[in-house]
Amino acid sequence: MRLPAQNPFVTVRVNLAQIRENFRAIAAKVKVPVLAVVKANAYGLGAEEVAVALRDLADGFCVFALQEAVNAELWHRTGKPILALGPPSSMDPADFVRHAVNPAISTLEQAVLLKAARPAVCVDTGMQRFTCPAEQLQAVIKAADAKEAFTHGTRLEHATRLAELVNGRSMRRHAAASALLDEPQSWLDAVRPGIALYHNAVEVVTTLVEVHDSTGPAGYTGFVAPRHGVILVGYSHGLRKGICSINGATRKVLEVGMQSSFVEVGDDDRVGDTVTLLGSGAQLEDIAKLWGASPQEVLMSLTRAGRHEYE
Ligand SMILES: *Cc1c(COP(=O)(O)O)cnc(C)c1O
Repeated sequence: MRLPAQNPFVTVRVNLAQIRENFRAIAAKVKVPVLAVVKANAYGLGAEEVAVALRDLADGFCVFALQEAVNAELWHRTGKPILALGPPSSMDPADFVRHAVNPAISTLEQAVLLKAARPAVCVDTGMQRFTCPAEQLQAVIKAADAKEAFTHGTRLEHATRLAELVNGRSMRRHAAASALLDEPQSWLDAVRPGIALYHNAVEVVTTLVEVHDSTGPAGYTGFVAPRHGVILVGYSHGLRKGICSINGATRKVLEVGMQSSFVEVGDDDRVGDTVTLLGSGAQLEDIAKLWGASPQEVLMSLTRAGRHEYE
């Protein structure tokens, strides 16, 4: 018998209504088209489910590779324009046209070959990967007859530079990811939020399977805590040392093993109680700081900790 691929002891609860709410708040604020970034299986939340939840709201969707849009049947499910942000995975425009995906291009060769797929030019404003350098931009735009240009924007100057570089052409320009949603001048003709859509929309929970009053240094590392609990999720599921929340109190994740971990518990915590690994009391930004990682990395890790439920 094959074991289930997903950890049966952990539930990843995705709140699609919250994602819609986040989308609406962004759209109301920026008042330009919003392209929802659902790459990497919507940061682990589920690209199909997220895209369907947003299909009546979003102006378009972004993935990294064509194959992601094909696998999630994004065109069939949403009927909205789809942009593959990464380097093209096929040089046959028919592969893109068939699935209603527009490729991103950065070289003259890609421009010539993929013209029929109505590509968007990915412009270099500092990122220096998968990008068209300023000095080749005119030639690439012309060869592709491109009507859209974008850049990887994390700072206002990236958006400003894009606007300068395509100045005077009637092209749709976009730069802003989540980090620029507070910079109105960066919004240009569209924004491309990813992580901002998923804020407060995921809860990752498990239960305490053992609770002990400590008899001395415990675990592999010999950690010392007056009382500790055990959960059936470890680093193989994406967990790292940091925090969790039990019965309303934020607690330490004391030691993370391959498939189980030790957590700090209080006097009233019992076997069977819920341990929140991500959610109220264990917020994404706080975990990211403790892990020394980006919120995107934490989401990608913890959303693969167990089976998904949608509400
Ligand atoms: C991932 C990505 C985004 C979304 O980034 P967030 O920081 O998660 O909002 C936007 N644009 C491009 C090109 C990306 O690769």
